[in-house]
Amino acid sequence: MRLGGSRRSGNIEDRRGMGMGRGAGIGVGTVVLLIVGYFMGINPATLLNLADVTQQEAPQVQGPTGAPADEAGDFVAAVLGETEDVWGAIFSARGEQYPAPTLTLFSGRVSSACGSASSASGPFYCPGDRKVYIDLEFFGQLASDFGAPGDFARAYVIAHEVGHHVQTLTGASQRVQQVRERSPQDANRAQMALELQADCYAGVWAQRADSARQILETGDVEEGLAAAAAVGDDTLQRRMQGTVVPDSFTHGSAAQRTRWFRRGLESGDPGRCNTFDGAAL
Ligand SMILES: [Zn+2]
Repeated sequence: MRLGGSRRSGNIEDRRGMGMGRGAGIGVGTVVLLIVGYFMGINPATLLNLADVTQQEAPQVQGPTGAPADEAGDFVAAVLGETEDVWGAIFSARGEQYPAPTLTLFSGRVSSACGSASSASGPFYCPGDRKVYIDLEFFGQLASDFGAPGDFARAYVIAHEVGHHVQTLTGASQRVQQVRERSPQDANRAQMALELQADCYAGVWAQRADSARQILETGDVEEGLAAAAAVGDDTLQRRMQGTVVPDSFTHGSAAQRTRWFRRGLESGDPGRCNTFDGAAL
């Protein structure tokens, strides 16, 4: 990728090396969880499909904010800045404001309005505090364990999580949650549609950012497609348990994830990202 000319986002909170900050602000996490649960009527762990996010009292810690100076942090700030410019333009063309999310970098464990999570959960978005959470070690795993190296593979992950933020703004996330409550038998399918739409949005972002600032280099698209395939449910299940159980898919197969990512990438049009057909929405 060519990110030299990209604006760095300052909407980054750097909690790397801070741990959970035990002893600070006891009880705040519980209050936040209750408020979030009350207003959204959701179990965020379920919504996010994060088995490892626990709904326990989670002390809230604050890290320094702004664009980090180190190379890995600078990359995240550049990609996040690109997502802000692209989604800002898309929303403003519709006469709407785009309230940008905060991206929290952490290491080890982190507390969020959705509960506490460990690095093992992978990157996630919490609608309760509108923050993306990423442990940069995941990017190392993406290359070494998932066979998806490259800067654009990492950018795809960030853009996918930002896609979940967009879905919170459009109400798609809330509609999926209503499906979960109304008809549990459709829950996995609805959740999968949400995930595939976030993949499509990641593609839309890449297309728009590239046509505005030529950020893509040869091989980047292949890196993104490889990453989308690497985190497909069938690929993950095969790795984890050796078999594939399509009924339990919540993110989509490798083929579905690459197809929707590609659709966004080729069209640059979020209107082409209607993954909900047939998903009872
Ligand atoms: Zn997702």
